Amino acid sequence: APTLMWFRQDLRLLDNPAVCHAAEAGRPVVAVYIHDEQTSGIRPLGAAQKWWLNQSLKKLNQAVEKKGNHLIFRSGPADRVIDELVKETGAASVVWNRRYGESEEKLDASIKSALTDRGIEAKSFKALLMHEPALVRTKTGNPYKVYTPFWKTFRAEADVRQPLPAPGELKAPDSYPKSDDLASWGLHPSKPDWSGTIADKWTPGEDAAQEQMEHFLADDLRVYDEARDHPGPDRTSRLSPYLRFGEISPFQLWHAAHDQRRTAGDSARETWVKELVWREFSYHLLHNFQSLHEKNFNEKFDAFPWANNASFLTAWQTGKTGYPIVDAGMRQLYQTGWMHNRVRMIVGSFLVKHLLIDWREGERWFWDCLVDGDPASNPAQWQWVAGSGADAAPYFRIFNPMMQSEKFDKKGEYIRQYIPELAQLPDKHIHMPWEAPLTVLRDAGVKLGDTYPMPIVDHKTAREKALAALNETKG
Ligand code: FAD
Repeated sequence: APTLMWFRQDLRLLDNPAVCHAAEAGRPVVAVYIHDEQTSGIRPLGAAQKWWLNQSLKKLNQAVEKKGNHLIFRSGPADRVIDELVKETGAASVVWNRRYGESEEKLDASIKSALTDRGIEAKSFKALLMHEPALVRTKTGNPYKVYTPFWKTFRAEADVRQPLPAPGELKAPDSYPKSDDLASWGLHPSKPDWSGTIADKWTPGEDAAQEQMEHFLADDLRVYDEARDHPGPDRTSRLSPYLRFGEISPFQLWHAAHDQRRTAGDSARETWVKELVWREFSYHLLHNFQSLHEKNFNEKFDAFPWANNASFLTAWQTGKTGYPIVDAGMRQLYQTGWMHNRVRMIVGSFLVKHLLIDWREGERWFWDCLVDGDPASNPAQWQWVAGSGADAAPYFRIFNPMMQSEKFDKKGEYIRQYIPELAQLPDKHIHMPWEAPLTVLRDAGVKLGDTYPMPIVDHKTAREKALAALNETKG
């Protein structure tokens, strides 16, 4: 009787404990991915994530084929599909790696108990996160709401296991259950057609993730401390979509970064692994507090007087606010499915504080456009930016987009890359084209209000309005 290996957010063979368990059992393996858009509460993927998943599953299938097996594609509510597959294959065991959203956990628990009742082994493993979010606890046994003490506890426990090797073989079953044609799932989005712009930038899959890691560790980790805030010459790892889909293991990254002593200093290594732990912290919040993308973590924000302004929202989404750093970020997102972290903070703050638009609108747009759109990190970071989250930036601290731009994109490299219509402006004026003398604008071929918009809000007025709205919230 075969073992059913159920892939979910762990689309890799290296350091995949459920795969190792299935391979070591010596039984044939039926490897399956289930596209589940029916189980209630499971958030459907955004368009850019679907594009990524489609590519990633093709890559995973190739990797599984190299191990002498095939990946089976099925769609429908996961509990029903697992039940059918167990009946079709006569599987004696079902294995998977754990996930941590409320609906996912409920579903997995009910599948586990249904299988166990029928005498079928159901085993789950830790692979998505280095520490179980239910186990990192304060001294009084509560979940953390603040990152730094979470990090301290995390680091003190520090028993992050070493990564496991990929299996040598995945023994094929005598016959395979039927599989959907991946193309029938409609994962390839038509509007916008990401296959051009996103495909130019990204290669999904485990092999590409390993290459990306090698490149980052060899070239960029050592400068991470200083370089990570500058979006122009982007030198962060760009591993987020690979981590999102589990194409690379955080355990592997943790050890690989720590082992990089010869090329990177202590501080750079520590700063970077702390980012990996921000991801763990987001999952800690998701697991312990739930509904992160729907409910304000800080309930005071339930009374916030958000503005319902469709034309502002569209201007923000399409990169036409008239603030170059904001627009460059929003265009990078739309064109490449990704945005630099510093700019995510700037555009997030701009939406929530300058335009007074509910953070959930921004979270939804990011969810749809990001290849790394993550069920935990995206809402947690949006709430952080909005001021409504756990350990959030205080709402009254309002980013000044011009100062951020001058500080982190001094020479306007990033702005020029995404806003070619401003490319000819001198460095001095690229952050605030509306303050440039008319002759400078003319020489650079810029006509404000025509080739590039005037700012849709005035910074100072917007700031005052935001602070007034905050006061109203406090009652
Ligand atoms: P690196 O700087 O190389 O960091 C390494 C890894 O650490 C990242 O790949 C990521 O997995 C993790 N990480 C880094 N920063 C954070 C953070 N602040 N919170 C959680 N994990 C982090 N990250 C996502 O993975 N998915 C999201 O949907 C997402 N949405 C965001 C929304 C907003 C408004 C903001 C401000 C940040 C968001 N982030 C999100 C966090 C961060 O911007 C990205 O993880 C980072 O830009 C990815 O680039 P990198 O892989 O080069 O990161």
